[in-house]
Amino acid sequence: MNASGNGVVIVGSGLAGVSVARELRKLDAAVPIRIVTADSGGFYSKPNLSNALAAGKNTAQLMQTPREALEKQLAIRIDFGVRVTNILLAGHLLETSAGRIEYEKLVLASGAQPIRLTIAGEGAAAVLSVNHIDDYAVFREQLASPSVKRVAILGAGLIGCEFANDLRSGGFEVDVFDIAPQPLGRLLPAQAAAFMRKHLEAAGVRFHFGVGAASVERTGAASGNIYSLTDSAGTIHAVDLVLSAVGLKPDTTLAAVAGLAVNRGIVPDRQLRCCAIDAAPQAGAGRPEVQVFAVGDCAEVEGLNLPYVMPIMAQARALAKTLAGMPTDVAYPAMPVVVKTPACPTVVCPPPPGVVGDWQEEISVDGVRALFASPDGSLRGFALCGATTAEKSALAARLPALLSERHP
Ligand SMILES: Cc1cc2nc3c(=O)[nH]c(=O)nc-3n(C[C@H](O)[C@H](O)[C@H](O)COP(=O)(O)OP(=O)(O)OC[C@H]3O[C@@H](n4cnc5c(N)ncnc54)[C@H](O)[C@@H]3O)c2cc1C
Repeated sequence: MNASGNGVVIVGSGLAGVSVARELRKLDAAVPIRIVTADSGGFYSKPNLSNALAAGKNTAQLMQTPREALEKQLAIRIDFGVRVTNILLAGHLLETSAGRIEYEKLVLASGAQPIRLTIAGEGAAAVLSVNHIDDYAVFREQLASPSVKRVAILGAGLIGCEFANDLRSGGFEVDVFDIAPQPLGRLLPAQAAAFMRKHLEAAGVRFHFGVGAASVERTGAASGNIYSLTDSAGTIHAVDLVLSAVGLKPDTTLAAVAGLAVNRGIVPDRQLRCCAIDAAPQAGAGRPEVQVFAVGDCAEVEGLNLPYVMPIMAQARALAKTLAGMPTDVAYPAMPVVVKTPACPTVVCPPPPGVVGDWQEEISVDGVRALFASPDGSLRGFALCGATTAEKSALAARLPALLSERHP
């Protein structure tokens, strides 16, 4: 332990940061754990944000563990509303908006930032993104205005489709725009995507494929048709609120400034330990010991940046062991993702990047079973829509691990 007694300092109080604290506390009742976070420091489940209307939950109800309760529960300290601006590796110091903080071991759990599209027009600055409960509070406040009836969503990916379904449950008109020709373009093969499209359309979602948003202008109307959105084909749509759901970019700012290896995300080794920019992840003996780790949406492990709950939990459990003095590689089993679109129950487990193979889709009236097989016939991924989602666990059990256990 260093003189400051700060032990493990975690930057970020999202699922990744809090899960590391929880898992480490299970293994070590005494080590000082301190979370430094730019937000309010309370814990909420981010996946609940895209189905809160159907679940009948407001923002206050979504907050599961307020900061004070979390501090008490885990015997940790949370510095909230504090932004880390720099890491001084040699001095084991963080520079923050509230002064310097010493660490012995540092965990970067800084998440990801919404990608902002370049959109013309004076209404572009009012386009919302939801990647945080505070963003969601703004979104819900605007939805509560009686003048907001029609919402445009940019992006028909997982988050865009979930919000589309949820907004329909809440009685809003919904138009979804995507330059791709189908929903969940990166996750679903053609027939499964067509099935999802049909069911979301039956629920009242209007899709506009092959077009993006070119401009968003304010109309000046006090109520109704607050914005006019011109799509890239030149069609004008009168809408009251625009939500962007075009994806997230890992937040690598701090790591990059500190000279840690960064690709799309921060690049730690299998023990989630970051390396100096000039040291390969597997560099051998003699490399300088960097006591900085990366976890969650900001991290890219063995080329995999997986911004989902299951990989984060696997990382947190492995990292807690490493921090407690039992160096442990992260291992990923096959990790299916449930898409929260009640109008079309869907589970996806995409093939790992670079794996060669083909999709085979079986379509019936009540579902689609899509299996991705390698040329040798082995199952490498799947997508299930409708009634076939019941096969999730059986199919996941047939898939090889994404990152296998490694034994010394
Ligand atoms: C709407 C929505 C629905 C989702 N649904 C699902 C789902 O159904 N299933 C699933 O598996 N996944 C889902 N996900 C993804 C999942 O929620 C995320 O992968 C996960 O919550 C990311 O957690 P994180 O802790 O890595 O990042 P974040 O939650 O982004 O936390 C980052 C933290 O870092 C802090 N921070 C950042 N920079 C600084 C700084 N410089 N100084 C101080 N603090 C800083 C932030 O304040 C924040 O506390 C969903 C995501 C969204 C947006």
